[in-house]
Amino acid sequence: MNSKERIAKALAISTDTKVFEMGHDMSSCAAETFTKCFPGKKAVIVADTNTWKVLGDKVYAAFVEAGIPTVSYIIGKEEFHAHWQYVEMTDLLIEGRYDEARAVENASDHIESDRDKAFKEPSEDYNILVAVGSGTINDLCKLSSYHYGQQYLTLPTAASVDGYSAFGASITYHGSKQTFSCPAPLAIVADVDVIAGAPKEMTAAGYADLAAKIPAGAEWILADAIGVEPLHPQAWPILQDYLDGFLSDPQGVAEGDPDAVADLFEGLILSGFAMQAARSSRPASCSDHLFSHILDMTDHRFNGQTQSHGFQVAVGTLTMCAVLDLFLKLDFSDLDVEACVEAWPTLEQEQERALQIFRDLPAPRLGYEVISQKYSTPDEVRAQLAALKKDWQSIKERIAAKSYPFGKMQALFKTVEAPYDPAHIGVSRTQLKDLFPIIQLMRTRYNVFDLAKRGGFYESLVEPLFAEGGAWEINS
Ligand SMILES: [Zn+2]
Repeated sequence: MNSKERIAKALAISTDTKVFEMGHDMSSCAAETFTKCFPGKKAVIVADTNTWKVLGDKVYAAFVEAGIPTVSYIIGKEEFHAHWQYVEMTDLLIEGRYDEARAVENASDHIESDRDKAFKEPSEDYNILVAVGSGTINDLCKLSSYHYGQQYLTLPTAASVDGYSAFGASITYHGSKQTFSCPAPLAIVADVDVIAGAPKEMTAAGYADLAAKIPAGAEWILADAIGVEPLHPQAWPILQDYLDGFLSDPQGVAEGDPDAVADLFEGLILSGFAMQAARSSRPASCSDHLFSHILDMTDHRFNGQTQSHGFQVAVGTLTMCAVLDLFLKLDFSDLDVEACVEAWPTLEQEQERALQIFRDLPAPRLGYEVISQKYSTPDEVRAQLAALKKDWQSIKERIAAKSYPFGKMQALFKTVEAPYDPAHIGVSRTQLKDLFPIIQLMRTRYNVFDLAKRGGFYESLVEPLFAEGGAWEINS
């Protein structure tokens, strides 16, 4: 199946995105696409100082030329993130309140508004947002458009994340990064020349974000096999059937070869379509992403800089490949299911454990809330472990067929010039080890550590990783 056929198939199941155009000099068609998708509407082109230079001003000129009433808004702040403050900024842009948007952008002591009060009645007078940039600008425009009951157009400038076409936006609200449910863009116009010309480390970050679907897919297979969360019949194949191919040219990606980067970008977009079909980020992330979420939550910096989503995910992905290697070495055919059920703590004990683990984090109740939702009753624990025991051989084969051993993934990351050691993002191995208890309790999505807690083999997945000969051996 070629790229055109894959995209057509993906568009057919995507619930929000109706137009995905990708090719050389594709941005020249953006004005025409806008007019088709949003006839008679006014546009606000949202860019930052970098993306304005590489693409924004060209798109702006083309929109004006095409007779579309257009305003540009260039975010001037050097360092801005997908934080709620900036969602309020893009909200105001939809209403045409540009000066107030600028004031919100520049406020250093901004108090976040209530997320539930952000929704407005749709109006014919509102502007349509045109996101010109990478993941952050796209996520801001996505959530704001949803607040006003309207859709938007996005022009990605880098193959840096899979969020462009995803259902949901990752936004930090009251100190913790959360996925806000909101529809993906109506239209995506991807100019391959612009995307391939993005800074190398952004493309490497996107490669790592796509590679994360390898261990994430393995954890989904596990959840499917033990009866917790079935594979989605459409969301699974749309990306996973082609994933190996999309990851197969790290050298070309590192060199910025337009064809290699186009393949990578297509993979990232298909990942978003899979999330649209599943109405969840399950097809794109599991434990691999949670390492990044904790680092975001604690405002982790390396040499004063926050590390990109993809770079953080690279470390999580490698770590999970190593964890899955350890998991596949175990044997559950003799598991004493009843002893495990007997040893399984009560909900209250688990809630107490979560409160302890999260005590000093910026979101101290997060673990408590998560465990309250994903706690399994003793009967459910019994059923999950019985399935693991009974089907172990086939589960092992299915996971082995999907996952990449640690060494293979690390070699790919070296070639693509993504981080291949936690030290590359300023995280020591001891720090990484300390994140594990939090990982299990970060999100309600069932992960391999949840099963490990139930089956009493949690230590076997973590300790050897940092012991002599382990992937992240700690030299004491
Ligand atoms: Zn991601």
